[in-house]
Amino acid sequence: MNEKSKVYLDYAASTPIDKRVLEAMLPYLENIHGNPASIHTYGQQVGGAIEKARIEMAEMLNCSPTEIIFTSGGTESDNLAIRGAAFGAREARDANHLLITPVEHHAVSHTVEQLIEFHDFEVEYLPVDEYGVVRPADVKERLRPDTAIVSVIYANNEFGSINPMHEIGEICREKGVPFHTDALQAAAYFSLDVEELTVDLMSLGAHKFYGPLGVGILYVKKETLLSPIQTGGTQERNMRAGTLNTPYIIGMSKALGLARKDLENNNKKLTAMRDQMIGRILEEIPHSKLTGHPTKRTPHIASFVFDGVDGNQLLMLLDVAGYACSSGSACMTGDPEPSDVILALGYPKNWAFGSLRVSIGRGTTPVEIQGFLEILPEKIEQSRNGSSTG
Ligand SMILES: *Cc1c(COP(=O)(O)O)cnc(C)c1O
Repeated sequence: MNEKSKVYLDYAASTPIDKRVLEAMLPYLENIHGNPASIHTYGQQVGGAIEKARIEMAEMLNCSPTEIIFTSGGTESDNLAIRGAAFGAREARDANHLLITPVEHHAVSHTVEQLIEFHDFEVEYLPVDEYGVVRPADVKERLRPDTAIVSVIYANNEFGSINPMHEIGEICREKGVPFHTDALQAAAYFSLDVEELTVDLMSLGAHKFYGPLGVGILYVKKETLLSPIQTGGTQERNMRAGTLNTPYIIGMSKALGLARKDLENNNKKLTAMRDQMIGRILEEIPHSKLTGHPTKRTPHIASFVFDGVDGNQLLMLLDVAGYACSSGSACMTGDPEPSDVILALGYPKNWAFGSLRVSIGRGTTPVEIQGFLEILPEKIEQSRNGSSTG
């Protein structure tokens, strides 16, 4: 198998960096250097570039530049949002109750688990429907005066469903409880207008929208109490210490601008390919089910469960055939347990073990999808026969 015939169908795990993004970053890696916090000309030059990028991104999020905190990526943004708001709310109003969904990324769910285990917080999981979607009425019913934070993923990374952000946000705002969303998978496809979404905290990561790895944003609405989790210098309004990563922040701003620009065209193109894939797979592969909502889902994710299939084995067979896919979250690779997120949708283990996520992006062509659809039934059959879990 030569490299040319490899097909990347894992855009939800990471997107390749856009050439134009790389070009915008290069001067800051090659020639322009300095610590943006320094008083001298070098510092002013990079500091100025960062503030310009901050203003540009604030415009795209419809917020004030001071509400943007730069981080090392989605994981750190989620950590800062959850841990920071939990400790902030405990200090300010003795709140210890965390309200999240059972289908969060591990960056959220494992942070919450640590708060439970070592810091005596209490967690309550919101019920989700068969598509993994939260009902706003359930949030209303479970919100308490001592709820420290509500966190609901915007577009799910394993099964693509989108949540009714605005409706949930209104309920939280009425009660004065901070509302966080992990928007990593939504950034390149849906509105990021924080007013429209009615969020107080929102996590973004550049490598999910054709920017560089290892850089992200946490949007923090002005009045939100956030206790820092990384201490040191006074960067980012004392909320996130550490010298800012100039080239990566410049790249992130460029990438977000480009993603927001072709949003509608790109969404249309991806939705057509996604739906063709979903239709054919459900039709041609016996004992297959779509995971997540059939229509209220992100354009780049087609996700399935197959009865009696070993998902990891299937991924290996597909990789050998030249197709890079995933079974839900990239972090689950090599894990012998089925994804806790897929189990939360109510599938029995023999179905949840056989999960497949095919995620497409700017480089995906109908020809690639055609080729994939041609070999998939045979690979599923092979992994059914060789499976020890079915
Ligand atoms: C990728 C991803 C993360 C983690 O972001 P990193 O920037 O890779 O740390 C968190 N949440 C979701 C939904 C993601 O897709």
